[in-house]
Amino acid sequence: MNNKVQSHDKTIPVLIVGGSLVGLSLSLLLARQGISSMVVERHPNTAIHPRVAGLTARTLEIFRSLGVEADIRNVEPPFSKESKVFQAESLVGEVFNQTIEEMSAFFPDDSPAKGSCIAQDILEPILRKHAQQNGVDLRYHTEMTSFKQDQDGVSATIRNRSNNTTQQIRANFMIAADGGKSGIRKQLGIEQHGAGTIMHNMSMVFESDIAELFAKRNAVMGFVRNEKVMGAFVPYPGTSVRSNLYRIDIWYDPSKESIADYPESRCIPLIRAAIGIPDIPVKLKTVLSWEMAARVSDRFQEKRIFLVGDAARVQPPAGALGGNTGIAEAQNLAWKLAAVLRGDANYGLLNTYEAERLPIADLTVKQTTALSQQRATEEIDQITVNTLMINMGYRYLEGAFVPEDKPDTTQIKLPNEWRGLPGTRAPHVALEQNGKQASTLDLFGTNFVLMVGSDGENWIHAANKVAKKFNLALSVHHIGAEFTDKDGQFCSSYGIKTTGAVLVRPDGIVGWRNSDMADNPIQSLESALSIILFK
Ligand SMILES: Cc1cc2nc3c(=O)[nH]c(=O)nc-3n(C[C@H](O)[C@H](O)[C@H](O)COP(=O)(O)OP(=O)(O)OC[C@H]3O[C@@H](n4cnc5c(N)ncnc54)[C@H](O)[C@@H]3O)c2cc1C
Repeated sequence: MNNKVQSHDKTIPVLIVGGSLVGLSLSLLLARQGISSMVVERHPNTAIHPRVAGLTARTLEIFRSLGVEADIRNVEPPFSKESKVFQAESLVGEVFNQTIEEMSAFFPDDSPAKGSCIAQDILEPILRKHAQQNGVDLRYHTEMTSFKQDQDGVSATIRNRSNNTTQQIRANFMIAADGGKSGIRKQLGIEQHGAGTIMHNMSMVFESDIAELFAKRNAVMGFVRNEKVMGAFVPYPGTSVRSNLYRIDIWYDPSKESIADYPESRCIPLIRAAIGIPDIPVKLKTVLSWEMAARVSDRFQEKRIFLVGDAARVQPPAGALGGNTGIAEAQNLAWKLAAVLRGDANYGLLNTYEAERLPIADLTVKQTTALSQQRATEEIDQITVNTLMINMGYRYLEGAFVPEDKPDTTQIKLPNEWRGLPGTRAPHVALEQNGKQASTLDLFGTNFVLMVGSDGENWIHAANKVAKKFNLALSVHHIGAEFTDKDGQFCSSYGIKTTGAVLVRPDGIVGWRNSDMADNPIQSLESALSIILFK
């Protein structure tokens, strides 16, 4: 039967396949834009493995704008700015080497939010709760089994694994948030490039009374090496919702072994050897195999289907940027889908998702692979990779913004060094309104935002006219009048004069700026929005 005439049980704007970290985040970002979505997740529940051990400040900025930050802060464990990585015979054994972990992506100076060491198994239920509150149609234990797209949308079959019933879904767009082994990517025939498999790990998650031993090391992770075990050791500090967990990853050869070769009777002696105390009580919670790899998909889009998160790109865990980069991809895509679905923008805007994010994926994967190698071989002062620059200080070279005449193609810097250049993150500037502290970042998230300098009244008039013409929800803020520019940093941070204006996209990326008053501000703003919205 032709898909166009096939009857569907449900028609929705966006179908998200995969309800883990990135799929759930995307559903919230879409809800913030007023777009409903359905999330299908083949597992019966949220993550049981704690995987992510670090959310960067940039991710917390995103969660702050989604109203999720407070719930994270309520349950997150304490996070030390000064943490070490050790190499030792065991947790209690001889230390061979010790380095200070580079934590700049978690504790940057120029953000209203700091990072968090909340783990994925604690975070996902929070995201799930917010998704439910925002009306996201969440289908756990439900699998997307087949799909087909035509020029108007995507038809997919989903199967409820509890009762084996199927449903036909019709969506304007479908998102592959289905992880590193993405079945959608494979069916679309999208190849990947990069270094490929680096190693295979067997990851054992357990409980044991070793918090004090870890506290003595003041470490976010360690590497242990003795005659019985060699592997990475990661603590997942406990919170009010669960006790302390620990993870030991050991290398294995998948051509010779599988998870079935790691029963409790084998795992517990390995864990005890890594701790260095032969009889210490250990409770094994889960065993999970995972592949450390560096791969980027050659394309992030096939017509109405988009790849996000691990489906789009996988990278070594060094720097803890895998999930964080996936959330940034979701943030980039959400407002573009919403703008096209609402008719605010033409379809061309959607092509900028790949144009903007694929080069950043290449950069991130390359840099975290280098970090992984440097960590294994170099001293701390030889490490050249700066995770803050990769996660917060990147610049899109082409996409949905009005480029300025800059000859260089530098892709990363410290975030505030960009000074409001279009295609980079709009910087944090401390503001105050009626005695209440705020950040420029608090103004972003839903609409396009025009911020004008203290002498830029003419831009406000222009903005109202242009918003009407484009039928666009455009928020206008007069910095220095409506808000006090607390430290007098607004203009220099955004590279404009007090008569200038800057347009920020809903994802907090600068879309355009005019450093001074334009001869014809209406025309200038109109032309900027036409470029960004492909209208
Ligand atoms: C040991 C470890 C430690 C890590 N530490 C960090 C860290 O500290 N910081 C960080 O940022 N990242 C970290 N990562 C990476 C991070 O966990 C991943 O990048 C992140 O989980 C990717 O999220 P995702 O939603 O894209 O994919 P996944 O988490 O892989 O989720 C994909 C989901 O799609 C579902 N699915 C697949 N196919 C279908 C289908 N057909 N129908 C329905 N559902 C389907 C799967 O069941 C799965 O739940 C770590 C990873 C590992 C393995």
